[in-house]
Amino acid sequence: MSMKVSQLFTKTSKTVPADETAKNAQLLIQAGFVYKVMAGVYSYLPLGLRVLENIKRIVREEMNAINGQELIMSSLQRKETWEGTGRWDDEVVDVWFKTKLKDDTEVGLGWSHEEAILEMMQQFILSYKDLPSSVYQFQTKMRNELRAKSGIMRGREFVMKDMYSLHASQEDMDAYYDGVIEAYKRCYQRFGIGDSTFVTFASGGAFTKFSHEFQTICDAGEDVLYVNEDRSVTVNEEVLEDASKELGVDKNSLVSVKSAEVGNIFKFGTEKSEQMGIYYTDSQGQQKPIYLASYGIGITRVMGVIVEKFADDKGLVWPENIAPFTVYIAQLGADEDVVNACQELYNDLITNGVEVLWDDRDARPGEKFADADLYGIPYRVVVSKKTIASGSYELKHRTSDDVKMVSKEKLVNMFTT
Ligand code: ATP
Ligand code: MG
Repeated sequence: MSMKVSQLFTKTSKTVPADETAKNAQLLIQAGFVYKVMAGVYSYLPLGLRVLENIKRIVREEMNAINGQELIMSSLQRKETWEGTGRWDDEVVDVWFKTKLKDDTEVGLGWSHEEAILEMMQQFILSYKDLPSSVYQFQTKMRNELRAKSGIMRGREFVMKDMYSLHASQEDMDAYYDGVIEAYKRCYQRFGIGDSTFVTFASGGAFTKFSHEFQTICDAGEDVLYVNEDRSVTVNEEVLEDASKELGVDKNSLVSVKSAEVGNIFKFGTEKSEQMGIYYTDSQGQQKPIYLASYGIGITRVMGVIVEKFADDKGLVWPENIAPFTVYIAQLGADEDVVNACQELYNDLITNGVEVLWDDRDARPGEKFADADLYGIPYRVVVSKKTIASGSYELKHRTSDDVKMVSKEKLVNMFTT
């Protein structure tokens, strides 16, 4: 959907929010993409939601391509769901938000859905014929995080994509897990952060010594990675000793970089199904525990990381695949021919499937250009009396200082795939 700035809900602001230290939150608030409710709690406004939905669309395509089926679990969870694995205990999980129903029944707000999904799936996965099975969701997770100083990179509520795959054998789980790694790489590539995102050895669980994190090199990140020169070895600081030994690399040859955990995948093996008593019937009629792996992507954190990595002193900079709009039209002046030329270009771009934001406001050019930069929309097109007289439009990329004069046909074709 395309739209006009005069109709856009939210305005940009020149003042840097005083209570935010994180660059991502400062810029997203100033540009009107998010609204801060309290520390670590943000609402996503139309512009911000468009970015989130673009990130989700990419993830959804990639998860569907590996046979993931989308569903959505509840936010309210039963205490009993988590008691079997010992994770209802606040000593074990320190981020729980808990509350009570009117009749005093304790319930939790989902910080994860591992136990909840397994409990639900066991109703349907009964025999080897029902396996493998893979489901995923986009869910707002609630975590009572101690610190929330990284803007949307660490929220007390945040959107996660979590996927769970169930298998009859370890071989089947391993093969699927490897496929998920490839699908995840494609996601980060498509978000525009593939070149700085690495599959990293991180702390595991009872079943495997290590889990895999997807870590994006980013100064605003809260993690520290150790990497070798060609970056073929990346290890989270937490497991530096063990992982370097396991990989046979000298830990002193690795250098540290700051990074943000944008994804985390785990093999639980049969650990959790045994704890929860979840079995399937194999072809011989025997009861066997189910193999489980889980796969998370921090959707809102990815958005924050992209802001941190690409923004410049003028504002946000969105990679094309996830930008809220592809083209921003700056209408300079309100003469009929200018308005008509804007309308025509707007219509032609929309007809060709391009998402456009048309700045039709009665405002000075400088103000419009500053807002265009703050929004971070990849392409800016200027339409004025001057450009009309020359029979062309002025085109500029967000990150370049060069302006080019291009014909409408060329402009429209540029964005049509
Ligand atoms: P962290 O170590 O950063 O607290 P985690 O290991 O507890 O994260 P997971 O349970 O692995 O997080 O969740 C999967 C993904 O969700 C993470 O890789 C991260 O990208 C994202 N995520 C986790 N916590 C938050 C949060 N508070 N705000 C935003 N995203 C988060
Ligand atoms: Mg993690």
